Amino acid sequence: MPLLFKKIKDLRNYLKSIRCDKKEIGFVPTMGYLHEGHRALIRMARNQNDVVVVSIFVNPTQFGEGEDYDRYPRDLERDLAICEEEGVDVVFAPEVSEIYPRGYRTKVCVGELGKRLEGEFRPGHFDGVATVVVKLFNIVQPHRAYFGEKDYQQLKIIEQVVEDLNIPVEIVPVPIVREKDGLACSSRNVYLSPEERESALSLYKSFLLAEKMIKAGERDAERIKEAIKTFIQKHPHVKGIDYVEITDENLNPKKTVEKGDRILLAVRVGNTRLIDNWKVEI
Ligand code: AMP
Repeated sequence: MPLLFKKIKDLRNYLKSIRCDKKEIGFVPTMGYLHEGHRALIRMARNQNDVVVVSIFVNPTQFGEGEDYDRYPRDLERDLAICEEEGVDVVFAPEVSEIYPRGYRTKVCVGELGKRLEGEFRPGHFDGVATVVVKLFNIVQPHRAYFGEKDYQQLKIIEQVVEDLNIPVEIVPVPIVREKDGLACSSRNVYLSPEERESALSLYKSFLLAEKMIKAGERDAERIKEAIKTFIQKHPHVKGIDYVEITDENLNPKKTVEKGDRILLAVRVGNTRLIDNWKVEI
C-alpha cells in the first residue's frame, strides 16, 4: 500500500528525508476517481523517478457556480488500490480546510491564456487550477510533475506559470489515453448514460473526420471547424457546443491548418460537459 498523508506537515517531513537521500520525486496531481489516463501519468512518473507522489484533491476553487463540484465522483479506497497496483509510493489526500484554511487569500492569476477557450466558459477556472498546483508544488517540491494532454490548455498554462514564477520543476506532458472506442478517458464519463456515451463518441469521430479532410487537402480552419460542428450537432444527446477551435501548439488561433496544430473542443452531452483535443498529423 502507498503511504497515505492527509496533513501537509506530515507529508513535508516524510519528503524531506527522501530529498536528503538524493532521491528524485515525480508528482502526479489529480482530482481522484482514477482511470487509465491517470495510470499513464503514474507509469511515466514511475519510470522516471525514485519516488512517486500522487495527490488526490477535488479543488473547489477551480469549479464555478453551478458546476459539478458537489457531485464530482470520489472514492479514496478505490484510488488507493489503483495507486498500489501502479507502485505509487505516497498518496496525498488533504481535506479542503488543509489546503484552504480560514483566512486564506492569495491567488495565482494566469492572465490572457486563462481567459480564452475553456476560460471563456469557466471564468476563474484556470486561476483556481494554477493556485492549487503552485501550492502543491510548494508542498511536494517535486523534480518532475506529470500533466495530461487531455487538458491541453491546462498543461500550457502550467508550463507558463512554472516559467513565469521560476518554479524549479520539470513539467512532463503525457499523451491522451482513450477508451477502446475512442472516447477520451475522464472521471466525468461515469455521468454518461449508455445513450449519451454513444453521442459523446462524436467528439472523437469528429477528429477522424477532420483528419480525413486534412489528408484530402483541406487546410481552411473555418471549413474544418464547421464540418466538426455540423457532425457533432447531429447526435441526439448533444445539448450544445461551447467551442471548436484550431490553434498552433501554443494555443494561438490558426486560419490555415498545419502539421502539429491542435483541434480543441468542449461539448455538452446530456448534463455532462466534455473536453477533448487532437494533434493534427498530416
Ligand atoms: P483530473 O483528475 O481530471 O484533474 O486529471 C489529473 C491529470 O490527469 C491531469 O493532468 C489530466 O490532464 C490527466 N488526465 C485526465 N484524463 C486523461 C486522459 N484521458 N489521458 C491523459 N491524461 C489525462
